[in-house]
Amino acid sequence: MTTQRYADKTVLVTGGGSGLGRAMALAFAAEGAAVVTIGRRQEAVDRTSELIAAAGGRGFGLSCDVRDASRVEETIAAVVARTGGLDVLVNNAAGNFIAPSEQLSPNGFKAVVEIVLMGTFNCSRLAFDALCARKGAILNIVATYAWTGEPGAIHSAAAKAGVLNLTQTLAGEWGRYGIRANAIAPGPIHTEGTDKNLWSVGDVEKQLVRSIPLGRLGEPGDVARAALWLCSDEARWVSGACLTVDGAAAVHGGSLNFRKAWDAMAAVAGEQKH
Ligand code: NAP
Repeated sequence: MTTQRYADKTVLVTGGGSGLGRAMALAFAAEGAAVVTIGRRQEAVDRTSELIAAAGGRGFGLSCDVRDASRVEETIAAVVARTGGLDVLVNNAAGNFIAPSEQLSPNGFKAVVEIVLMGTFNCSRLAFDALCARKGAILNIVATYAWTGEPGAIHSAAAKAGVLNLTQTLAGEWGRYGIRANAIAPGPIHTEGTDKNLWSVGDVEKQLVRSIPLGRLGEPGDVARAALWLCSDEARWVSGACLTVDGAAAVHGGSLNFRKAWDAMAAVAGEQKH
């Protein structure tokens, strides 16, 4: 049962061809939105569109690298031309890999910051006119390590801290246009990618679960349901906020245990190298 609270709305999800982006795209479509997903791989966003269609929803996918401002501009123009406007922008696209800072090259750092921080700015800035016309909402996906830092992920942690700050600035600047800007900070979530590359390494999942009061890792739907609320009219006076969705890990030593988990992953990565 859905309430169709997004009927007549258009939602754009960056990085919508996998993981949380795909889950959020499906959730918005189930609530009646026309959902456009973007990512570099056309086949991945097409697969999301197929899943949306199979569930009776509407949407399409476009290949777009969020680092490329002119491609982002063309893409947003195409979204507005095909659907009539834009109501919600979800900045979810990200890159990440484990690397202790002393081994991370400046280019590796730059690559992640460009996708996460520059990509979020590019999409938000270039969607401004369209969002302004509809008094739309921006949702930025960060991570709980945005405010603690994250051993093994200095690039992602610094970029997410930047996105959190950008969210607050946009809420302050664009509130006068009726645009809301919020963030969600997920804790560790099961997705195809994280299951394969992170949680299945050694006893990482066990370590993490121990640090999560609600006793499990998150599911993509946990984040998608929070996204539906934050971008809806039910949250119409919520802006500049960051909603943590992590089973209470961040306030109960999650970071410490997350560190142990990263150490386990780094050890396995090191063993594989030698
Ligand atoms: P994911 O499956 O790796 O998804 C990332 C998506 O971003 C991919 O679909 C990828 O598609 C897209 N992308 C990467 N670079 C891009 C670029 N330059 N331009 C456009 N799209 C690009 O990751 P996820 O686990 O679902 O994570 C989604 C979001 O949640 C991220 O912001 C992540 O930091 C955050 N998060 C996740 C977790 C977790 O446990 N899963 C925890 C905290 C926060 P292409 O490769 O086709 O471009």
